[in-house]
Amino acid sequence: MDHFHLIDGVMHVENVPLTTIADEVGSPVYVYSQATLVRHAQVFREALTKAGIENPHIAFAIKANPNLAVLKVLAGEGYGADVVSAGEMNRALAAGVPAKDVVFSGVGKSADEMVAALKAGIGQFNIESEEEGRELATIAETLGYRADCVLRINPDVDAQTNAKISTGKAENKFGLGLHQAPAIYARLAALPGLNMRGVALHIGSQLLNLEPLETAFGKIGKLIADLRNSGHSITHVDLGGGLGVRYKEGDHPPHPDEYGEMVARATKGWNVQLMFEPGRVICGNAGVLVTKVIRVKPGSGNVPFVIVDAAMNDLARPALYDAWHDFEAVEPTGERFTANIVGPVCETGDTFAMAREIDAVRQGDLALFRTCGAYGATMASTYNSRGLVPEVLVSENRYAVVAERIVPATILEAEHVPDWLA
Ligand SMILES: *Cc1c(COP(=O)(O)O)cnc(C)c1O
Repeated sequence: MDHFHLIDGVMHVENVPLTTIADEVGSPVYVYSQATLVRHAQVFREALTKAGIENPHIAFAIKANPNLAVLKVLAGEGYGADVVSAGEMNRALAAGVPAKDVVFSGVGKSADEMVAALKAGIGQFNIESEEEGRELATIAETLGYRADCVLRINPDVDAQTNAKISTGKAENKFGLGLHQAPAIYARLAALPGLNMRGVALHIGSQLLNLEPLETAFGKIGKLIADLRNSGHSITHVDLGGGLGVRYKEGDHPPHPDEYGEMVARATKGWNVQLMFEPGRVICGNAGVLVTKVIRVKPGSGNVPFVIVDAAMNDLARPALYDAWHDFEAVEPTGERFTANIVGPVCETGDTFAMAREIDAVRQGDLALFRTCGAYGATMASTYNSRGLVPEVLVSENRYAVVAERIVPATILEAEHVPDWLA
C-alpha cells in the first residue's frame, strides 16, 4: 500500500496535497508519511516473527532518519535505536526510546560519549576494536558500571552494493577480522568493566541480494560455536541492517519476508537473542523531497536543464553515490520530455539525473524526488550558504512541520569576526 498517490491530478501524501504543504511551508521540503513508517515497521517485525524468530530486538538505525517525530513514531512501534554518536543517543532518549533498547554502534566512540552512554544506561555497546573495548572497560569500572557488550565482526564478504556503503570487507574500517576475533574476545571478556555477551555484524547498506548476508551469517555461526567451545557464554547476536529498497524500476529488493526466512534458516540452533538494526528499509520509501522548478535552461543536443530549488546539499545521495531518485511532477499533465535535472549549487556533481525521461515541467512547477525518507535530510549541509530544508510529517489529513527550515541568516549568526578584524 502506497501512501503517495494522485488524487484529482495532484500528488498527495496520505490525504494531504503536496501543493498545500509547499504553499504553507515553502520549498524545498521533505515530507514523510506516518502510515508508511508504521507499516514498514510492522511488516519488518512480522516478517521475523512469522519466520519463527521469537521476540526479536529491533533497533532503528537512527542515522537513516534522526528526526524526532519520526523516532517517536517508531518508538511507538516498540522499536529501539541503533546510534552512532551521543547526539543520536540523546535524540533516541528524547523520543522516548527506553535506554535499555539503545545500541551504541560506531567505529569511533569517544571517551565522553562512552561516559554519557553508561550514565544514560543504554542497553549495549557494539565494540569495534580491542583498544575501544579496553577504554570502555576502564571508564565503566571507574564509574562503577559493567557495560553489556558485543564484539563487531568484519566477516569479509562482498555485500555487492556501492563501495561507499559497503562495510563488511576486510579493507573496510569496521569490526574485527574472524581470525583475530577469538583472542580479542577472550581478552575483553576477562575485563571486569565489560560483560561480553555476543557478537555483531553489519556488512553494508542498500543490499538487493540476500546471499552475501547469508554467507556472512554462516561465518558468524562458526565463530559462535568456537567462542562457546572456549567457554564464553554467547547470548546476543546483532545482525545489523542493510536491507535495500526500490529506488528505480528494475530494482528488486528482497521482501522482508524473504529476509526473515533467510535469517531463521541461517541462525537455526544459535539459541541467542537476535538483534536487528534496520534503517533504510523502514523509512526510505516513507519520504519525498518536494522541490520547485526555478527555470528551464536549454542544453546541448536539445536536452534542457531543469534547474530545481533542491540541490546536492539538501539531498546528497546522487552526488555521493550516483544514486537514482525518481522525479515526478506534483501535478503531472501526462506530457513527458527528456531533460537533465540539476540543482543551483556550483558543482557539476549537483546533478540529480542526466538525459532522463520525466514529466514535462516548467518554471514554477512543483515536483518531487521519491524515496528520500532515508539518508535524505540527515545528510544535508549548508554548502553554498544554503539553509537546511524543513521536514513535515503527514498523518491522514493532518500535517505538521517537524523540523523547521534553518535559514542562512541563522547560520551566519553563529559566526564571529575576531576583534583584530573588527
Ligand atoms: C548504517 C547502519 C545500519 C543501517 O543500515 P541500513 O542499510 O540503513 O539498514 C545498521 N547498523 C549499522 C552499524 C550501521 O552503520
